[in-house]
Amino acid sequence: MPNLDDASTRRILELVADGAARSRGELAERLGVAASTIGLRVQSLLDAGLLREAGDGTSRGGRRPRILTLADAGSLLTADLGGGHARIGRHSLSGGIERIETIAIDLSQGPTATLEKVSRVFDRFSESVRIRAIGIGLPGPVDIDTGSVDQPSRMPGWPGFPVGEHLRNRHSVPVAVDNDANLAALGEHRSQFGDARHSITVKAGTAIGSGIIVDGRIHRGATGAAGDITHTRIDGSGDIPCSCGNTGCLETVASGASLVRQMQERGYADVRSTEEVLSLARDADPEATTLVRTAGTHLGQALSGVVNFFNPHAVFLTGSMSASEPFLAAVRSRVYEACHPLSTQTLRIEAARTGADAILQGAARLALEALDLPVG
Ligand SMILES: [Zn+2]
Repeated sequence: MPNLDDASTRRILELVADGAARSRGELAERLGVAASTIGLRVQSLLDAGLLREAGDGTSRGGRRPRILTLADAGSLLTADLGGGHARIGRHSLSGGIERIETIAIDLSQGPTATLEKVSRVFDRFSESVRIRAIGIGLPGPVDIDTGSVDQPSRMPGWPGFPVGEHLRNRHSVPVAVDNDANLAALGEHRSQFGDARHSITVKAGTAIGSGIIVDGRIHRGATGAAGDITHTRIDGSGDIPCSCGNTGCLETVASGASLVRQMQERGYADVRSTEEVLSLARDADPEATTLVRTAGTHLGQALSGVVNFFNPHAVFLTGSMSASEPFLAAVRSRVYEACHPLSTQTLRIEAARTGADAILQGAARLALEALDLPVG
């Protein structure tokens, strides 16, 4: 008897969660398998209480199909750990946010103390609901197999610490861990395109990062470094040293931190944050406006090579700088100017719409993929 593997069962849950398939027939069509094969898996998900039938759909001749939805069979927990605070969420299985809370954390206190603070909020969020899985976003490259941060950088005590295993032991559910840029990309992409198509989501704030989505899935690359656009060399950017040891990287001319530095060099000694530069640009300060536009042009330059090569359906911009219209306009005009018309024919370059919650939405999606499945 033909059977479906776990990966296909996860796809069934995802397709129903995204609203991309609403019946056994549509699932069979999307997965390219016989309706009878789908029937068995759907039944095991119904039996396990993960799916439910929600009445009859419209018939295309013959019996009317039963509409499938995700059951109200528990919740997912998510956390987005940042430099000074963690955003923590509880979601329905289809990703809808049920509760959300932001707490102060200090990553330099190390993983055990920091994760315990997050776990205490998880404990409160778990009262009287069944938690099925957890998704965590970390601000650095993540080794997906061990669920740990991969590079020393600014997180003392974290490299090599098994975040996934630690939280799995603490909460007794599956845990998925990924880099926050990848999760933001996944959250934004799924809200726009479901599980099809290709996109890049660039976070342009104090730092620059990006996540790549291919056919609705995170593309991590051979060593998890895919999307690390910030160290792209920009011609004519000068010889400013970068945190990576090279000079002339995108980070040194287009990140919020570099804009602050450049403003200070131009005599604006009291400008200390990306937000202050953006606010000056909004007030039409000529230096700030020029710098923000130039940053957009540099990012557009770096992206044009990627767009030509990868041919995505969309480039989404998130982070504080994405709210600046001159910045967005400069990115757009550089990409359209520098790319082959075929790559930009239907390309959308726009501000992300999931905003501050993109990372949590992506974490919920990843948690759904990590769910323990019924044997069937
Ligand atoms: Zn660099």
